[in-house]
Amino acid sequence: MADSSRIFLSPPHMSGTEQAYIQKAFDENYITTAGQNILDFEKELCQRTGANQAVGLNSGTAAIHLALQVLGIGTGDEVLCSTFTFVATANPILYQDATPVFIDSEPDTWNMCPVTLEKAIQERLQIGKKPKAILLVHLYGMAAKLNEVMNIANRYNIPVIEDAAEALGSTYQNKALGTFGAIGIYSFNGNKIITTSGGGALVTDNASLAQKSLFLASQAKDPAPHYQHSEVGYNYRLSNISAGIGLGQLEVLQERVQQRRKIYEYYQQALAPIKAIRFLPEPAGAFSNRWLSCITLAPDQPITPEQLRLALEKENIEARPLWKPLHLQPLFAETPYYGGTIAETLFNQGLCLPSGSALTPEQLEKITTVITKQFQS
Ligand SMILES: *Cc1c(COP(=O)(O)O)cnc(C)c1O
Repeated sequence: MADSSRIFLSPPHMSGTEQAYIQKAFDENYITTAGQNILDFEKELCQRTGANQAVGLNSGTAAIHLALQVLGIGTGDEVLCSTFTFVATANPILYQDATPVFIDSEPDTWNMCPVTLEKAIQERLQIGKKPKAILLVHLYGMAAKLNEVMNIANRYNIPVIEDAAEALGSTYQNKALGTFGAIGIYSFNGNKIITTSGGGALVTDNASLAQKSLFLASQAKDPAPHYQHSEVGYNYRLSNISAGIGLGQLEVLQERVQQRRKIYEYYQQALAPIKAIRFLPEPAGAFSNRWLSCITLAPDQPITPEQLRLALEKENIEARPLWKPLHLQPLFAETPYYGGTIAETLFNQGLCLPSGSALTPEQLEKITTVITKQFQS
């Protein structure tokens, strides 16, 4: 099972203070989905993101599901959604019996193209289907074109949900990603920049949306001395143990961002001599947590990303393809799609390199040496 010599893509990186918070939960005997760690974690998350309200949940996927639910998205509604993302972004649209309408990326940030987004809105309006929400992903920690997307959203009066699962610690014009739209979500899954082992959060400036989310996340219990229910609820609350891990992790969030940014810079410098390898620069205004360091390979050269991945795997180094666009997934074969082949090309030419914040200089050198070898001869 545990393989200490393997270099993983993005493993957990503990701060050392997590167990003290877990011990506190044990001391207070709050081994449940309530307790001081949860409240402290939500408060800390607000402080670090500038959000007004945070609700701790047991996954990022649950946070997206609640966001759709509290914004009133239901049967037959359409949600405009980034195609270039992990499936967890769009699955909750299906839970709501709604329809995703996928939007292609643009090349500057790899995220939702604002021009395609507006075209999609206009076409959907023409056929009498006003989209009910925009589900905007900040992939790999990079801010989408927020000014453009928010302007369009405001002009057509469509609420934005930001999937910032991969983007905690990233900002755009000094404002945290996840705090631009009506609702933002984060994930604290084991592979994310910080973890609670499994968990997520929903953030918003709207107190009634936060309150409604908390209500639905805790089985929708009506105020009564007995168990009284008028709505479908969920068991989505974060555990007090997980929140303790999260408190220890939030203490080092800034450090983790700096470590991941340094890893990206290392790759960029060490691989600069290989002209076939390209990086995604930070556009003006964006500050990325560089959750994963991703490269794309020029199409007109002999090494494919899969060859590179296999060469790394042979040395017990884990690399992964970029997310496969959702409009190309069998699950979404019948789903409307707007755009061309930008996300598809990124998928075909890209590779995510090991990006864990605990990577040592020796490990980084090993990785770049394996990659460099592939391009020699
Ligand atoms: C990880 C992730 C999610 C889901 O988060 P979980 O906590 O694993 O449910 C959603 N969207 C994106 C883009 C992710 O990377």
